[in-house]
Amino acid sequence: TSTLPDDFGRAFVTRVREALSGSADALGDLDRRAGDGDFGTNIRTAMTLLKKNVEDDDPDGYREWLTALYMAWLGVGGTSGPLFGMFFRDLAKAADAQSPGTGGGDPASEQGGPTPAQFGDALAAGQATVQKYGEAKVGDKTMVDALDPAVAALREALEAGKDAAAAFGAAEQAAVDAARSTAETTARRGRASYVGEASEGVIDPGAAAMALVIGASRAAAEG
Ligand code: ADP
Ligand code: MG
Ligand code: MG
Repeated sequence: TSTLPDDFGRAFVTRVREALSGSADALGDLDRRAGDGDFGTNIRTAMTLLKKNVEDDDPDGYREWLTALYMAWLGVGGTSGPLFGMFFRDLAKAADAQSPGTGGGDPASEQGGPTPAQFGDALAAGQATVQKYGEAKVGDKTMVDALDPAVAALREALEAGKDAAAAFGAAEQAAVDAARSTAETTARRGRASYVGEASEGVIDPGAAAMALVIGASRAAAEG
């Protein structure tokens, strides 16, 4: 059965940082067109906190890297801060089942690093948390719109026996396609819902950010 690289946690968080930092201005522009314009600043704040967490805590292993990421997002305002924070906190728990009790885990892999299926389950848990607190349904033009098909594509590919690279590739493709499609919908959650139909034609920045996060996991899975 297919596995993830030993340094998946470090690689994933590093790729998230690169992708979101590189797109903060563009995502902020989308939020200016169809929201209140603070998303770019919120991303920058999160990535600055992440850099500080990594420097201060010198994370080692999957859970510590994901903890640096989720703690950074929990320090950010807006709606996206707590939602991404709780989402990444669920991802940090991905490997719990693999290292029960005293936390030994598999000594051959990164401390408690998840299997592809465990990562898929954690993504699903993160989606459930985001929907529980954000109360967004699929189609409300939020980050959920990119996450939902990505989770489904990843799990379906793994259940069909695909290897990790192919399964994560399918998840990224589904997320990117769905994020693009949010341009055709009207926002029903968050600040963008205040502008109503003015959000039509504009990709939801949170969905685009989520697609970048799924893309980061694909790159990390390829090693
Ligand atoms: P705010 O809407 O409070 O200004 P941000 O600008 O930081 O928040 O983030 C905007 C993104 O957050 C949106 O593009 C959307 O994807 C996501 N978002 C906003 N509200 C919700 C919600 N209730 N559930 C899920 N995602 C949401
Ligand atoms: Mg905003
Ligand atoms: Mg705001």
